[in-house]
Amino acid sequence: MSYSAFYQESIQQPEVFWDKEAQLIDWHTPYRQVLDHSHPPFAKWFVGGETNLCHNAVDRWLATQADKPALIAISTETNTEKIYSFAELHTEVQRMAACMQSLGVKQGERVLIYMPMIAEAAFAMLACARIGAVHSVVFGGFASKSLATRIDDARPVLVLSADAGMRGGKAVPYKPLLDEAITLAEHKPQHVLLVNRGLAPMPWVAGRDVDYASLRAQHLEAQVAVTWLEANAISYVLYTSGTTGKPKGVQRDVGGYAVALASSMKHIFCGNPGETYFATSDIGWVVGHSYIVYGPLIAGMATIMYEGTPIRPDAGIWWSIVEKYKVTRMFSAPTAIRVLKKHPSELMKKYDLSSLQALYLAGEPLDETTSSWIASELGVPIIDNYWQTETGWPILSIARGVESLPSRLGSPGLPVYGYHVQLVNESTGALCGANEKGVLAIKGPLPPGCMQTVYGDDQRFVQTYWNNFPHEQLYSTFDWGIRDADGYYFILGRTDDVINVAGHRLGTREIEESISSHAQISEVAVVGVEDQLKGQVAVAFAILKHPELAATAEGRRALEAEVMAVVDKQLGAVARPARVHFVGSLPKTRSGKLLRRSIQAICEGRDAGDLTTIEDPASLQQIRAALAA
Ligand code: AMP
Repeated sequence: MSYSAFYQESIQQPEVFWDKEAQLIDWHTPYRQVLDHSHPPFAKWFVGGETNLCHNAVDRWLATQADKPALIAISTETNTEKIYSFAELHTEVQRMAACMQSLGVKQGERVLIYMPMIAEAAFAMLACARIGAVHSVVFGGFASKSLATRIDDARPVLVLSADAGMRGGKAVPYKPLLDEAITLAEHKPQHVLLVNRGLAPMPWVAGRDVDYASLRAQHLEAQVAVTWLEANAISYVLYTSGTTGKPKGVQRDVGGYAVALASSMKHIFCGNPGETYFATSDIGWVVGHSYIVYGPLIAGMATIMYEGTPIRPDAGIWWSIVEKYKVTRMFSAPTAIRVLKKHPSELMKKYDLSSLQALYLAGEPLDETTSSWIASELGVPIIDNYWQTETGWPILSIARGVESLPSRLGSPGLPVYGYHVQLVNESTGALCGANEKGVLAIKGPLPPGCMQTVYGDDQRFVQTYWNNFPHEQLYSTFDWGIRDADGYYFILGRTDDVINVAGHRLGTREIEESISSHAQISEVAVVGVEDQLKGQVAVAFAILKHPELAATAEGRRALEAEVMAVVDKQLGAVARPARVHFVGSLPKTRSGKLLRRSIQAICEGRDAGDLTTIEDPASLQQIRAALAA
């Protein structure tokens, strides 16, 4: 079938289309209705059907490949490698599930997972899925305040964590940050289940903290049956940044998500049972959920969980893993490839990469230089794919499993089946023609696998995502895009205050709020500035309560370090601005709105844009002067 016919069916007859795709997973009870779109923009898929993500990822494969590898946990930090077969994974997940149940976790309750890239983190996600608990994984790079906000929103009964992760040969303690987060949070989880890796000291809170190894030892023979869940039950909540300082809990279902992953593993990622998949992301991000843990396992593949950097012990490490485990499909981010490009490519050439059939890149714009370089080094197709935490799986890509259409440099590709993608004029709501810039929007219903709502806040879901255009209710991606005459899309950056640092999505408001908590700061603006390696970096411009403190270079340096330390402590190093400049005023409109885009333009050496509404043009000069200094 041509891709065009496949796509058209998905848009014109979504019920017929998704009914077929739904056969890719196991259902305990068949669904009565493929789609209920009676209360738009909310979409319910596979209504009445009962299934389970853990069953489809693990139990389902026991009959045919119990002894085949399922999870390969590799840490180049602790120099450990362990392979779990599907049977072993099944056992470990049941042990973990039994531990959770013994600590009182019940169906529908939340479990927060704040863990490094260790096998137990995957066991925990799958165990939640098995018993119908809702997991919320928080990226290990986030610090206490970020964590506290998420604890208060998700209200978990249990938190899972570890003594420490490791990065670049150094232990990164988790437990002290977690303790501080729980102190800061209003909600108090009943228990904290801790994996002790022996990497860092762990202060212990009696009555609350539980040692995983000891508890696991009591449940070695555990048999925990799968809890069958209605397709629209909540599988997980994953927080992501937006325009306001308060992160949004992206809530996902069970049935639609399982179908979307099985379908994308077949048509986009082309994975087959028995093969090995290697995604270099982290379980704290959406890629980790969809394409480290659930997607590959649902496809019956072995999946690699990797703790470490791309360049330790040397820049050949990932390729040595590809050789050793005969990886067929690999998933990474452009920043990682740019990092590798700085190292001699002989390190790559040393290894037999003949198993590798494609490299998928996502999370940030893929520039042509990086794409061409890695394509020529590897000699396999490089497949850009564009999506968001909200959608859970690609919106734009080339579904080579359907038809091997060519890629186009700089473009993630065509709309993926199921997504009725449109480019819309921001102010008039009119549809854009070829080569006309607009906001990338999606006409509802969103396909299976996409967010159901903002956790606990339906109104915010509707207000934030579906209320941005006149005339019609469309889902906004908050990305600018353009489509060429052949239908290939190009992404031109965010329309909102979200920035993308090394593929990590950060809200500038969150960083501003954190910086403002420093006693000396009266006001601050944070913008994303183009960076050769990371795509973008955060740069802050702050007004001091006592400007004389920044009179000398030494004073400025000391304050800058202090401000960075505040962000590190509250949000985590991932959100730390690359620079903090001190200015006397910030460019604003006469109604007091910060002109972030003008600041960003100046930082990138571009024209500051339309300044008809600016209150004090001299403020722009201050930005220029601060940059020059
Ligand atoms: P996240 O929700 O963290 O995955 O971030 C999603 C955002 O990252 C999107 O809205 C885009 O701005 C950006 N993004 C993701 N993938 C791509 C891609 N392949 N090309 C360009 N931008 C991308």
